[in-house]
Amino acid sequence: MTSVERYEHALRLLDAYIRENNLRHTLERENLLRMMAELNKPVFTFKDLDKKRQEAHISVPTLYNSLNLFVSARILYCMPRTQGVSQEQYKWTFESKNTLRMICTRCGREAAFRDKALEQIVQKRNYTNFVPANYALFVYGECKVCRKLQMQRIVEEKNKLRPRSSIE
Ligand SMILES: [Zn+2]
Repeated sequence: MTSVERYEHALRLLDAYIRENNLRHTLERENLLRMMAELNKPVFTFKDLDKKRQEAHISVPTLYNSLNLFVSARILYCMPRTQGVSQEQYKWTFESKNTLRMICTRCGREAAFRDKALEQIVQKRNYTNFVPANYALFVYGECKVCRKLQMQRIVEEKNKLRPRSSIE
């Protein structure tokens, strides 16, 4: 998807949501959607948008409120802060249809994975008072590279301690 296609798709979702909920159209929200589309990043944070926000003279509360509205309108997914991730991460809903993704909370590395059995469980499940459209499942943890670095750090720490303990 190009940034223009992404912006136009997001704008259509926003229009529908605004009509359904009798809200007002604001130029700021449209500008923010364009800014997010132009980031060309699969996952982005408030910080990624902050410079563009300042250039466009959009206030911090307006950006926060708009991001919340985009999540309610199912334009964005908001991935909550977890250990190692200092900011909420946002992701386009329509670019991550039915995805299973692993996210490293240390370096932010992300990868898709397939699991037919898991996908069927989510799709065929009976949801109370709810009709599912699509889903995204995020598995948080440590990637191989970060895990290796972590193990090296543990070994180094142990080696540092060893001479001292042998003296005692
Ligand atoms: Zn990592």
